[in-house]
Amino acid sequence: MAVFIPEEKISEIKNAADIVDVVSESVLLKKAGKNYIGLCPFHSEKTPSFTVSPDKQIFHCFGCNTGGNVFSFLMKQDGVSFPEAARHLAKRYGVDIPDRPLSPAQKKEISQRESLLDINRRAAGFYHQALINSSAGQTARSYLAQRGISQQTIVDFKLGYAHDGWDHLLRFFSDKRISSGLLEKSGLILPRKNKSGHYDRFRNRIIFPIFDVNTQIVGFGGRVLDDGLPKYLNSPETAVYDKSRSLYGIHRAKSKCRATGTVFIVEGYLDLLALHQHGIENSVATLGTALTADHVKMLTRYARRMILVYDSDEAGMRSAQRCIETFWQEHVDFRREDVFSEDKADTHILVLPTGHDPDSYIFEHGPEAFSEAAAHSPGIITFLMDCAVRKHGLTTEGKIRIISELQQPLAAINDQIAQAIYIQQLAERLGIAESAVLERIRAVAARQSRAPAFAGRQAAPAPGLPKSETAATHAGLPESFEIKSGDRFERQIIAMMLQYPDILPEINRLNVLEYFENKNLESIGSAILKFKPATDDQVSAFVSKFENQTQQTLITALAIGDESWNKKGCLRLLGKFVDTRQKLRSGSLLEAQIKAAEKSNDHDLLITLLSKKQKMAERIEKRKMAILSEK
Ligand SMILES: [Zn+2]
Repeated sequence: MAVFIPEEKISEIKNAADIVDVVSESVLLKKAGKNYIGLCPFHSEKTPSFTVSPDKQIFHCFGCNTGGNVFSFLMKQDGVSFPEAARHLAKRYGVDIPDRPLSPAQKKEISQRESLLDINRRAAGFYHQALINSSAGQTARSYLAQRGISQQTIVDFKLGYAHDGWDHLLRFFSDKRISSGLLEKSGLILPRKNKSGHYDRFRNRIIFPIFDVNTQIVGFGGRVLDDGLPKYLNSPETAVYDKSRSLYGIHRAKSKCRATGTVFIVEGYLDLLALHQHGIENSVATLGTALTADHVKMLTRYARRMILVYDSDEAGMRSAQRCIETFWQEHVDFRREDVFSEDKADTHILVLPTGHDPDSYIFEHGPEAFSEAAAHSPGIITFLMDCAVRKHGLTTEGKIRIISELQQPLAAINDQIAQAIYIQQLAERLGIAESAVLERIRAVAARQSRAPAFAGRQAAPAPGLPKSETAATHAGLPESFEIKSGDRFERQIIAMMLQYPDILPEINRLNVLEYFENKNLESIGSAILKFKPATDDQVSAFVSKFENQTQQTLITALAIGDESWNKKGCLRLLGKFVDTRQKLRSGSLLEAQIKAAEKSNDHDLLITLLSKKQKMAERIEKRKMAILSEK
C-alpha cells in the first residue's frame, strides 16, 4: 500500500540499514581493499565488477553502469518503488513508520489507481473465462490453436476473448456495482456518440492483458479473428497505463533477462508468445510504439545486451535510426557509450530471413536457430552500414549516398573511441580517405551540438586508457592523460572532488567547473561544492538528492573508487584541464572571428584567420594520427 513516509523516517532507515548486509542476501561479496566486490545481480558476468562501499553505503557496477544507495539497490533488484523499498528496510531494521493521514488529493489518486487496477484484474478474469469456457469462445480457441499457441501459454499470459456484442463487459460490471464513470476511465468502455450510455471497447477480439513489472494488469490489447480492421486495438493511456513505459511480457521476462544479461525486443503479441513458448523467455514486445528512452531505462535494470528483432531490413533500419535519435535527444551520455560501443556488445539488430517474423521463424526453425542468428546479429551502426552499402552499392554515386545516410548516426555517437573506429571502418569499406569522412561527420556534429562547435569534440581519447573508472584516477598521472576527451577529463575531476575533499577550495579558486562541457557533470560538481558530501557517510545521502538516473550512476561510479590522491598530482591535473579548455575556447573564438570577417568581407583578415585555423587543424590531425597509430 502506498503511504507517505516522512523525511526523518527515511533518514532513520538510512542510518539503520547496512548496504553490505542487504546486498549479501542475494550476492556473494568478497572484501577487496576498502570495498567489497561480487558478481553483479543486474547483468551476467564471470569476473566481479559489482562493487559495494561499506563506508559510503553505495554500490556501483562497472560492467553495466548501475549504481546507487541501499534504496536504489532494492528498487532495481525487486522492481519496486522508493516507498516500497523504504518500507521493506524499515521492517527489516525495526524502524516504526506511523501511518500518517494522506491529503485528500493523495487519497483520491491512490484510490483511483487501485480501483483501475482492480477493474482491469476483474475484466481480465472475465475475458479469460470467456476464452477457455464459453461456447462463443470456440472460434478464438481454434484461432490460437491454429497459430500454435498452447494451453499453457494461454494460462500463463491470461489470454482472453471479448464477446461479439456491445455490452457484455458493461453488463458484467453493472452487476458488480462499479460506476460507468470509473469504467470509462479504465478505457474498457466508451461513451456513445449521442451521450446516452456506453459500449464495450473490445468486441469479438482475442484479448492480451498487459502486465507491468509487478504483474499488475495495466491495460489490454485486442486482436481481430479475421481480416477485420484495425487488426490490433489497444487500451488508451490511463492513470495506470503509459505506453512509453509498458512492455508486453516484462513480468515473465525479467528474471531470465537478469540471468542471461540479454533481452530480445519484438514488436507484436504473438511474436512474444511464440518466443516464450519456445523457452526464449527473456523477450518483451513494444506493441507498436518505438522503443522509448523509458523502455531502455527499464530494460537496463535487467539486461545490458538488447537485441531488437525485425522482419525486414526496412523495419530494422527505421528502428535503428529512431533509437539513435532517442539517445541523442535524451542525452543519455553515459548510456550512449554502452549502446554504441560494439566491443561492449550492447544494442543489436536481428533481421530475420525474408518472409519471416519472429513468430513464424521460431515455429519453423526452432529456438536453437533463433539463438544462433541472434549471436551473429550486428550492432546498430554496423547494421546501418551494411544496409546502406546494400541499398546504394559502391559506385561513386552510391558512396556519396552512403556517407550522407550515415553522417547523422555517426555524428551522434558520443563515445569518441567508438566513433573513430566506425569512421575508420566506413572509410576502409568505401575505399576513401578517412580524413574526408571525418571532416564530414565533424561538420554535422558541430551543427548538432549545443556546445560551441570547436570545443570538446576533436580531442580523440588516447587508446589504452583504463576502461573502468576504478583504475582511472591516480595521483601520479600518466602523460597520456592530457590528450583525451572532455568527458573523461571532467569525470576525473568529479571523482577527485568526491574522494578528496581537500581539493574543493582549489576547484573553487580555479573556477574549474566553468570549463565543463558536460551539463550532468557540471551540475554534480556544483552540488558537491554546495553540499560538500565528501565525508564518507554523506555520500549515500548525496546520491538521493539526484532523481536523474544518469547523474546517480555517475556519482556512484566516481565516488566508489579506492584511490590515493595527493595534492600535487591533483593540482597538475586541474592546471592541465583549465589550460586545455582555454585553448579550445580560443579555437571557437577563432571560428566566430572567421564568421565575422566573412560577413564584413574583410579578405586580408579572413586569410590570416583561415591560415591560423588550418595550422590548428593540422596540429589536431597530427595528434589524432599519432593516437591511432599507437593502436
Ligand atoms: Zn552489472
